Amino acid sequence: MARIVNLGQQVWTNYHQTAECNLKGRIELVNGDEENGRAHLKGVAETVLELLREARQYQIPVRPIGAGWSPSPINVVEDGWLVETLRLNRTYKLSAENLHADCDVDAESLLLVQAGATVDEVYESAEEIGRSLRTGGASNGQSFAGACATGTHGSVWQAGGIQDHVRAVQLVTPDRILWIEPEKGVLSDAFIAQTGSEIIRDDRIFAAAQLHVGAMGFVTAMLIETDPIYMVQNIQKAARIKREHIDWLCRGEFKRFSCEFGLHEEPYFQQLIMNPFDPFDKKSLLRFLYKRPYDPGIPPPPPGDMGAGYDALTLLGKAMAESDLFKAEILQLAMEQAYPDNRNVDDPPAIATWGHTTEEHAPIASLFNGSVTLDRSKLSEAFDLIIDSFRRGGGGTVVTLRFVRKAKGLLAPAHWPDNVVIDFDGPNVESSHQGYKKVVEALDDAGIAFTRHWGKTNNLDEHRVMRDYEQNFADWKWAQAQVMPDAADRQVFANDELVKLGLI
Ligand SMILES: Cc1cc2nc3c(=O)[nH]c(=O)nc-3n(C[C@H](O)[C@H](O)[C@H](O)COP(=O)(O)OP(=O)(O)OC[C@H]3O[C@@H](n4cnc5c(N)ncnc54)[C@H](O)[C@@H]3O)c2cc1C
Repeated sequence: MARIVNLGQQVWTNYHQTAECNLKGRIELVNGDEENGRAHLKGVAETVLELLREARQYQIPVRPIGAGWSPSPINVVEDGWLVETLRLNRTYKLSAENLHADCDVDAESLLLVQAGATVDEVYESAEEIGRSLRTGGASNGQSFAGACATGTHGSVWQAGGIQDHVRAVQLVTPDRILWIEPEKGVLSDAFIAQTGSEIIRDDRIFAAAQLHVGAMGFVTAMLIETDPIYMVQNIQKAARIKREHIDWLCRGEFKRFSCEFGLHEEPYFQQLIMNPFDPFDKKSLLRFLYKRPYDPGIPPPPPGDMGAGYDALTLLGKAMAESDLFKAEILQLAMEQAYPDNRNVDDPPAIATWGHTTEEHAPIASLFNGSVTLDRSKLSEAFDLIIDSFRRGGGGTVVTLRFVRKAKGLLAPAHWPDNVVIDFDGPNVESSHQGYKKVVEALDDAGIAFTRHWGKTNNLDEHRVMRDYEQNFADWKWAQAQVMPDAADRQVFANDELVKLGLI
């Protein structure tokens, strides 16, 4: 069994201090000393099952959390138990005999990951066995389960979200320990039995569990699929782009865009950080990553060397939000100072493994994170509207464009064949909220469909979630009812935000 450490009744604030709650108990789960991976999974799941049963009996709401990084209040619970998972952070390799006869991948490409392993820990474990993740977010301190729960994504335009790696999920409800896979089995029945789980093989239930927003049960472990290890070459530069370049991106002409500003090849990843006050006269910050074969002779880069470099932007953005003077100039200064100036095409190549392209993030008091995801083919039509509305609302920080394919999971915000995600990251001040609200209203008024990130500030409610996800929402609710038919079980996972979203 796992160990339960009760840290007691307390006021708890999430990582970036955007939400807080009064807890009946803050509970930490720690692995027991079982001898192998299956036994660990079984021990943890049985401990969680007992905890959830007790919660149901005494009607105490439970909130499993990872790193507590989501700025939206999905990770807080009033008068409940907050259950921390970060010490459930082991990863395990598999062998061919562990696989189901229908499994379509080799054992080497699979990794069993406990829910609380951070994205960084998963990168490290994968690299140790010559493997790599395909995509991830801009930072790496989230737990793997927490990142999947909200559909965390980056800007690998041929991949969806981090949850796309998931091939099976171990999920605990107050009634059962479940192992959820697609209809085509991945792990053998014998292996799964040793994890103490009942098997559900169903495509719809699996797609619901890939992105569950913390409302489908307590995830204790996931099976993920990795790629052979590779490296990426990083180009980061400040450059003035023109309106027509937005049209290129809208049409998916990434190679053409790269030939203009980066290397003469198709980028694996590409991102633009723009100054909304003057997007075409002021320089944008461009970031390209190009895939390279793995070379063990290339040493890991110094910390931060390949990272996204958001911190300075956010800090300077805060100073700017409090002053109306020279906003565009101050923001531009902040943008360019925060960005490396030695990663251009003629500089010595900066190459590292995928896992080294992100970095930990220091907590920033009161951060605002909001985004909208739209069909990439609507980018040209929506771009000016978005920028103008954000600025008119007083939004005083950078706007980032990222590109992803259709992501896995019934509730994945990136649900068009190709998507553009427009992020508004900055200080948690009224002008950031107002700017974001104006963007949302303007898109609605123009009849341009969009979705929002579950883990960020989103102003969503049940009515809107139903409208945004239509049949996928109905299917997700059906799947949730298969896993937890009893309303009292679902109620264990209730918090204000999930109830508001219609997910509990
Ligand atoms: C600095 C920063 C950078 C970010 N960068 C990006 C980015 O590049 N791209 C992007 O898409 N997003 C990004 N985000 C958003 C972030 O990735 C998501 O909010 C993610 O969900 C946070 O993971 P977490 O482990 O902290 O989850 P938490 O915030 O702890 O939890 C998120 C949800 O999942 C549930 N949950 C967590 N663990 C479990 C479990 N074991 N079982 C059941 N439910 C569980 C929680 O209850 C909650 O509902 C960023 C956020 C910050 C603060």
